[in-house]
Amino acid sequence: MIKLVVFDWNGTLLADTRASVESVNQVLKKLGRAEPLSAKKYRATMTLPILEFYANYGFGRDYLKKSSILIQETFHGHYERRAAKARTRKGARKTLSWLKANGIGSIILSNHLASAISLRLENFRLAHLFSEVLANPDIHSIWKEKNKMRKLQDYLAAKGFAPGEVMLVGDSTEEIEIAKHLGMKSVAITDGFYSPRRLKSSSPDFIIGNLSDLIGVVKKSNGIPAGKKKH
Ligand SMILES: [Mg+2]
Repeated sequence: MIKLVVFDWNGTLLADTRASVESVNQVLKKLGRAEPLSAKKYRATMTLPILEFYANYGFGRDYLKKSSILIQETFHGHYERRAAKARTRKGARKTLSWLKANGIGSIILSNHLASAISLRLENFRLAHLFSEVLANPDIHSIWKEKNKMRKLQDYLAAKGFAPGEVMLVGDSTEEIEIAKHLGMKSVAITDGFYSPRRLKSSSPDFIIGNLSDLIGVVKKSNGIPAGKKKH
């Protein structure tokens, strides 16, 4: 019985893939790479921690570490302006409202800035549909470590959720791996930051293309007959 759905933010709830591709290209340009990446190439190669992503494009790790302030400021400076225009992904409001109406909690788990996410949720008038935003306090923590799993683990332990009661939804292999590691169901969503091929290779329990499809996934998991609304 699913009681809590954990949503990734970037590429999952927020339609910011284009904004991220453009911002990464600004960084690559600053580092001296002339050729920008296409969205397809980005989806095929995006990886975290982000230092590894740039290292895979031939930049030395020492050089990247030395340039970290420049990289972070270039990325975030461009990204914040560009992503301010990004909308939520299709079906977000409908799905989140359905979950709430059916007594299922929603939280956000992200590597992004907690303050930036909370501000966007207020602007989208979606804040009331989430009970928690688990994210990073500053841009420097994003650079250094992958800490989503620890954050989620601590939260679930504090709130007393069993793994079988939680579903994790994300657009990258990171969320699928976390869900598997913690023994919860994973839902991968396409058209975000990762290619469908890479998502499939991590064997998520479900793959969806639209957030609205999540309603059917939860109904199935909770034994609610398809097509019948439970209000
Ligand atoms: Mg994401």
